[in-house]
Amino acid sequence: MLQQRTLKSLTRAVGVGLHSGQRVEITLRPAQPDTGIVFRRVDLAQPVDIPVSAMAVSDTRLASTLSNGGAKVHTVEHLMSACAGLGVDNLYVDITAEEVPILDGSAASFVFLLQSAGIELQNAPRRFIRVTKPVEVREGQGAAEKWARLDPYHGYKLSFEIDFSHPAVDSTGQRVEFDMSTNSYSRDIARARTFGFTKDVEMMRANGLALGGGLDNAIVMDDYKVLNAGGLRYDDEFVKHKILDAMGDLYVLGKPLLASYSAFRSGHALNNKLLRELLVRTDAWETVTFPDEKLAPKGFAQLARAW
Ligand SMILES: [Zn+2]
Repeated sequence: MLQQRTLKSLTRAVGVGLHSGQRVEITLRPAQPDTGIVFRRVDLAQPVDIPVSAMAVSDTRLASTLSNGGAKVHTVEHLMSACAGLGVDNLYVDITAEEVPILDGSAASFVFLLQSAGIELQNAPRRFIRVTKPVEVREGQGAAEKWARLDPYHGYKLSFEIDFSHPAVDSTGQRVEFDMSTNSYSRDIARARTFGFTKDVEMMRANGLALGGGLDNAIVMDDYKVLNAGGLRYDDEFVKHKILDAMGDLYVLGKPLLASYSAFRSGHALNNKLLRELLVRTDAWETVTFPDEKLAPKGFAQLARAW
């Protein structure tokens, strides 16, 4: 049987929120089978649980926010991406403020945390959402056009195309494809950092955003070049970060997808719209388990490789 996974032990990290600039501590704890991923705001007078689900995504400007009533947690996508990449199903995330720490701006620190705590197999079948018919969402026209879609696929692969006209981006790949069967998420995707432009950062700061952002946790560009002394981690780090984000955005579904995801200029908002469209289209998917794990798509049965 292909089993659900949680952590072997708990693990902690301290950092700052990208937008709030606030100090925040997260504690990742093992959870029982079928718990899913649950954020717990332990700083509130009465701790509030915020379970991950497509419908709990309440704000997608700049980052993905989950809500339960008035309780919120911002910028969940990089942690969610690490959970998707390592196949963690059940997890409590105790958090002491309303934004997940940005750490190094990629999913690598979260992968490191999860792998150091160790992954535990649980005595319950892992349930997948298998897409059986194409589902697509589109927005805008002409130069503003963007779209995202899911097609049936025995496995999980993502292809993403960006369309940034900027000297530092033009010279790198604008399109990338990643297939889980390569078992190379940690090495090829997780280290891609978020990116921004100095002119946008100044505007965001004026609006009380990006207060925790800087060269330690983002690729920052002026009108011509990358300002980070160390340059890029991958030649095509920008578009790889979009794959990283999409994996996190899609994992809020609560179950891993068996599908081929493709997107052009998509972002947190459109990715969430795609999930909601999928949930409405009940004829376009089914829930499956793999009693014989040899029949599971490649990349899911074995534990994820470290770097
Ligand atoms: Zn991101």
